[in-house]
Amino acid sequence: MDNLDDLYQEIILSHNKRPRNEGALDPHSQEAEGYNPLCGDRLTIYVRQNGPTVEAVKFTGEGCAISRASASIMTEAIKGLSGAALDAKIAEVVDLLTAKEEPAVDPFDLGELAALLGVRKFPARVKCATLSWHTLAAALKKEASVSTE
Ligand code: ZN
Repeated sequence: MDNLDDLYQEIILSHNKRPRNEGALDPHSQEAEGYNPLCGDRLTIYVRQNGPTVEAVKFTGEGCAISRASASIMTEAIKGLSGAALDAKIAEVVDLLTAKEEPAVDPFDLGELAALLGVRKFPARVKCATLSWHTLAAALKKEASVSTE
């Protein structure tokens, strides 16, 4: 599995270096701020919904490579989703990252999201990876802020 780990690391580093959809979203319908005191990651997620559909999502903030890569991958993974599919996607990813048991999924079905699963080996970093997803969920519920603690 070494090659797969290398690939995952490359995906994380690439998203950290050249994040997709970084910057404020203008106009946006919702925004929320997420904070992970364990690591100091601070992200703001901006969402533009057209009816129930997420038309666009962007993020700003400071954080470690994992938190930024997770936010970047998230902005691509959820675009165009709406309603139950959107909620299910958020729940699925948070579950994959936090479930005690090794997830029974084919990493190739997950695309770049699979790269985030590498943090399961480093419990202290799991909250870095879930931060953007929790913050997105808060924005969708029109909550202004969320903390991982
Ligand atoms: Zn972090």
